[in-house]
Amino acid sequence: MRHPAYGLLRPVTETASVLLCNNPGLMTLDGTNTWVLRGKGSDEMVLVDPGPEDDEHVAKIAELGAIPLVLISHRHDDHTGAIDKIVERTGAVVRAVGSGFLRGLGGPLTDGEVIDAAGLKILVMATPGHTADSLSFVLDDAVLTADTVLGRGTTVIDSEDGALGEYLESLKRLQGLGHRTVLPGHGPDLDDLEAVTAMYLAHREQRLDQVRGALRALGDDATTRQIVEHVYTDVDENLWDYAEWSVQAQLDYLRS
Ligand SMILES: [Zn+2]
Repeated sequence: MRHPAYGLLRPVTETASVLLCNNPGLMTLDGTNTWVLRGKGSDEMVLVDPGPEDDEHVAKIAELGAIPLVLISHRHDDHTGAIDKIVERTGAVVRAVGSGFLRGLGGPLTDGEVIDAAGLKILVMATPGHTADSLSFVLDDAVLTADTVLGRGTTVIDSEDGALGEYLESLKRLQGLGHRTVLPGHGPDLDDLEAVTAMYLAHREQRLDQVRGALRALGDDATTRQIVEHVYTDVDENLWDYAEWSVQAQLDYLRS
């Protein structure tokens, strides 16, 4: 089975399978990946990111079996919208960084914590940048990178609480985990986290160089839109509003 496999639980590694929600879009690529983790011999599962509030997706999740624990990668609605419907159907405890997403008595997730569940040890790694609360979840052979590393394209730095400096540090942290499989929040899984993070870092450096060049050409008081039109000529114009977020993040970074 290959990505995208809507509505089917698609095995990716020995312990991780994905249920892709049918919510494709500019920001969600083919849709939100809900990850289902289960250690060998375990009859329980850990769910990572319930996805948006989508009744068909919720019904598919509820059919999977015993889900005592749900982990949240970050606050965005395309990952969290289904929380209450999933809790209603499964009785799962929900753990996240932000208190608004906690359900049951599991408490907030903390950087460096190792979760022992469904026959697995899952390391929680803070990887802020896309949003302030972004986490990755590290398994022996794979890393769930959520929106920090996507299956294709690049990540947006959220204008509300994202930060490029933090994002670059998070990419370096992930790079240090070596050649593990990338299980992203959107898009297909990828073979090699170290190679993908190296590519992301090079891409960000290239964009920063281009923004520096645009500021030289347009002047320091250039607007984000002017810089987008100067730099993002290789990107679909439909994405230019989001590119403005990225440029703002780059300007914040360069000025800090
Ligand atoms: Zn997101």
